[in-house]
Amino acid sequence: MEDDNDVTITGVTDMEALIHIPDDKPLMQLFKRLIGNDTKQNTVLTNAQILDILKKELNTDVVYIHDLELEIYLNIIKKFLKDWPQWDDFDKSVSSLKSKGDIDAIKKLLDVKYNNFRDYLKAKLDVAQPLIKNVVKKATAKKKEADDDKMNVLMEVSCTRSQLNKIFFRRPNPQQRNTIFNFIDGPTKIVLDNISIEALINWFHIKVEVNLPSFVYRFGMTHKLKHVLLNKKINETAVAPTVLNQHLQRSTNRKNASLLKLEDIQYILKEILASIPHDYHNGQLIRATLAYIETHLVRNHKSGGLYLTYYRKYMNKYAYVRYLYADVPSDSNFNNINKYDLQLQEMIYPSYYYEIGKFVKSEIISKLFIYTNWIKFECLLCNKVFLGPDMTEKLKQHILDYHFDQPDWQCTNCKSIYSMLYLAENKWEHKC
Ligand SMILES: [Zn+2]
Ligand SMILES: [Zn+2]
Repeated sequence: MEDDNDVTITGVTDMEALIHIPDDKPLMQLFKRLIGNDTKQNTVLTNAQILDILKKELNTDVVYIHDLELEIYLNIIKKFLKDWPQWDDFDKSVSSLKSKGDIDAIKKLLDVKYNNFRDYLKAKLDVAQPLIKNVVKKATAKKKEADDDKMNVLMEVSCTRSQLNKIFFRRPNPQQRNTIFNFIDGPTKIVLDNISIEALINWFHIKVEVNLPSFVYRFGMTHKLKHVLLNKKINETAVAPTVLNQHLQRSTNRKNASLLKLEDIQYILKEILASIPHDYHNGQLIRATLAYIETHLVRNHKSGGLYLTYYRKYMNKYAYVRYLYADVPSDSNFNNINKYDLQLQEMIYPSYYYEIGKFVKSEIISKLFIYTNWIKFECLLCNKVFLGPDMTEKLKQHILDYHFDQPDWQCTNCKSIYSMLYLAENKWEHKC
């Protein structure tokens, strides 16, 4: 810490301090040092001590803010620490009480002055905060323009989805040789949350296949992801709204695909539903899946015709974004930590696909239960297939165990934040 950066407050008088002050009140500690200072030396506050005051007394954590913003905070607090209008009064009152040796009165005085001082700093900070944000926003916007023509750097990382969610530390981790890579798997969490049938069908990278002699249908999530590793201390972090084309896209691979009537497909879906016995295994999941298929077909093929082919559609008007990182326990070496805030930016363009693989109008579906495994689910992230009588339970448990603990997503347009559960239950769609 450089000396000229430090703030100096002159000591008040000499006396042994008999007053106990807890560690979580750095302003009180400052008072105590001032009244107990018997050498009449100046009491110097380091930047780290000012950060401590900001965090513990003023509820302002500055570890992960922009450098410029931090600099402004430090200067504001330094200025108002010096300029507190009650310093003279404090000095006189303490001197007078000390000459009488009245420790109880000093304790009371400290309590009153402590509250006054903290309220004073808090009020100054409240006024300054929006102004600081504005200054930093303008400054970083300018910097971004200047940075735009720099070269892009690409890095390939292979890992599982759950590793990816926490693969980068926000700053070099001193407990692990200052690496930014988090290779160590965290403890497995026991998740007690429940998950609805709708959410299961729409979960990240879930695929469903219906495979009957007369009807083959596949659908699933086919989200596109884009990753960029950012140091948020340097990079401008606001993401521009990313608009997604809302039109239904049809595969051009099968040019001569035959045209089907929507009502014929609806008929076969009804037939399947009707042939499911009341107490059929996975009945709830299967009924919801069939309803889901019909909802999408009706919504996308209002004209009543569709091809025996592959369709794709974005599920929301805007992409979502989130930031993946693992936190590092903070330490006092703030010069080092303040250079980094590494976060993996993940953009998702939520989309689903469906494909009619086979359709034979003449065959009537009956006695579904004679076919084994005619419906199956698959997690595309883990290449794991779920079928058979306990399909629902296994799929649910798999998602709860491996894919439930996920950071939230933010809409790139309206900036609202949604949990994965909310998005899955609402077909990844929301109104801005
Ligand atoms: Zn999986
Ligand atoms: Zn939105």
